[in-house]
Amino acid sequence: MLCEHGLNLKGDSANAVPYYQKLRVRVTHIWGNRSLAILKEKAWSLTHILLTHHHDDHVAGLADVLAVHRAQVIGAAADQHRLPSLNRAVVAGDTLVIGSQRGRVMDVPGHTVGHIAVYFEAAKLLFSADSLMALGCGRLFEGTAEQMWQSLDAMRNLPADTLVCSGHEYTLANAKFAITIEPQNTDLIKRQADTIAANQQGKPTVPSRLSLERATNPFLRPESPEIRERLQMPGASNAKVFAEIRRLKDKF
Ligand SMILES: [Zn+2]
Repeated sequence: MLCEHGLNLKGDSANAVPYYQKLRVRVTHIWGNRSLAILKEKAWSLTHILLTHHHDDHVAGLADVLAVHRAQVIGAAADQHRLPSLNRAVVAGDTLVIGSQRGRVMDVPGHTVGHIAVYFEAAKLLFSADSLMALGCGRLFEGTAEQMWQSLDAMRNLPADTLVCSGHEYTLANAKFAITIEPQNTDLIKRQADTIAANQQGKPTVPSRLSLERATNPFLRPESPEIRERLQMPGASNAKVFAEIRRLKDKF
């Protein structure tokens, strides 16, 4: 399966391969030629392509890949009108069977209204694209803060050892913002240092463990007393606190 998530890996993208061997999933933008080169190098035949949402940086190059591989293209039924032609339109709760693995489709609106994620329980992999990202979350282009919060809340409640395969690697920039929201969070301080070190060594910081996201990602931490105190929102709902963090990030 090829998931269109862009990993934007700084260094050697081969670093990320072991995480996906179980599923034989390549996580990459469909940079047509690059994806084709990786498939050729691995001698993998492509069977499924998962489109998580309609944005150009996630669907461009699809035709180039399909010209070589006859893969099934899967995407959200709700977004069929603006996605490339789908072979299978899915809704929340649908099961994707990829080889021996079964993935559950989740509806995760917020970044766009038709954004889906897929969670593979046995492989402990979540493909969250531009909804939940390493130390961040996607911008609210279409959905409301309330919708995005519900999406993030559903994803943060998956098992803690789930690997979060997000759509972009913005971890370093996200860490700079996160530390302004929760500067005394020791896990976050350590993660920022680790991220800087990884960056200097050309190592990827995506995918990341959900347990680490829960401990450090400000968008998953509206209950944090430190964050609530800093934002002066002691009694606000989680969705309201999330909305304020998102607003601050937008102008950061
Ligand atoms: Zn997007």
